[in-house]
Amino acid sequence: MNNLIYMDNAATTMVLPEVLDAMMPFYKDFYGNPSGSYSFAEISKNAINDSRKIIADTLNTMPHNIYFTNGGTESDNWALKSIADSYGKNYGHIITSKIEHHAILNTCNYLKKKNYDITYIDVDEFGIINLKQLENSIRNDTILISVMFANNETGVIQPIKEIGEIAKKHNIIFHTDAVAAYGHININVDEYNIDLLSVSGHKFHAPKGVGFLYVRDGIDITSFIHGGDQENKLRAGTENVAGIVGMGTACKIAYTDSDSKRNKELILREKLITRILKELPFSRLNGSLTNRLSSNVNFSFQFIESPSLMELLNEQGICASGGSACTSAITEPSHVLSAMGLPDDIASGALRLTFNSYTTEAEIDYICEMIIKDVNKLREMSSLYTFFIS
Ligand SMILES: *Cc1c(COP(=O)(O)O)cnc(C)c1O
Repeated sequence: MNNLIYMDNAATTMVLPEVLDAMMPFYKDFYGNPSGSYSFAEISKNAINDSRKIIADTLNTMPHNIYFTNGGTESDNWALKSIADSYGKNYGHIITSKIEHHAILNTCNYLKKKNYDITYIDVDEFGIINLKQLENSIRNDTILISVMFANNETGVIQPIKEIGEIAKKHNIIFHTDAVAAYGHININVDEYNIDLLSVSGHKFHAPKGVGFLYVRDGIDITSFIHGGDQENKLRAGTENVAGIVGMGTACKIAYTDSDSKRNKELILREKLITRILKELPFSRLNGSLTNRLSSNVNFSFQFIESPSLMELLNEQGICASGGSACTSAITEPSHVLSAMGLPDDIASGALRLTFNSYTTEAEIDYICEMIIKDVNKLREMSSLYTFFIS
């Protein structure tokens, strides 16, 4: 596409050319099944284990703690259902938050129907979880705490270290959905007391359909997909070799020069926020400015509706999001913004822009101009706005 300005990296990302280059031989030349007993199969098997090592190093863990899956949703489902299965024995209490991705929320809904009890912790106006409430919610039958590392809509980073400490103190298993965070921030599973962690490749420039679940030694997980002996007999099915190789390569790239990439994103973010808030009255930044991914901006514009703004931006070649992609078909305000206490009329005028270190200042300038133009145009058409300012 010509002049495409892609500002929806929280929904998915471009596969980097280096990632594709690393993958191609495993489609064309080395297509052996990793379970085979000949040297040709060994090439595939070794490639998988090289990726496992690269990934384990980024988390400060060992390769055998990494289980490949088909993505974030599967990792989240596996973590929650298998902990419920192993430790709940058909009943148990799970603590999560109101701002989780639907991969967690709908898995919790499923477990609720299976007789598990779920507590959803509140967040404050900045989108940060209430730690006191979390600790006070712990009961004798609590088997799991699952809180996301960073939120996919607002980019707000949760106090994971503190949650890990609470979980450890009360001897409760701690899972984190790190799909939005991994590749953007350094994660040390030991330092944060994380027992299980979900990641998806396509959120950090690997292809769609590959991800992993980190599981700490001693945590008893059950098989989620039954079949052959792959992944230590816990996740059966012939491995997505090329995808796994791509994810390993994307990992290496994400955690190389990460400080300079983050600094570049911070400059772009600052520029975007400053200009929009300065030039558009009745607008606000949703979520904490400081505890936030460097590549995320989430605005609310009063007197407009997200879908109308998205339509105008689309005509200008800009890909953005009004909420999370999974719910954008529904015009209901985002559950994340509602949990932060935003009234419906403000939450429904939200705009999420997620960029990356390859985004240019010229693109940011163009986007600012278009947003300012479009929001003003939509407001002029709004009787509520014209009534309000008269
Ligand atoms: C994208 C996302 C998921 C789902 O991952 P898929 O690989 O698309 O299944 C889960 N959690 C969060 C926070 C996400 O951003």
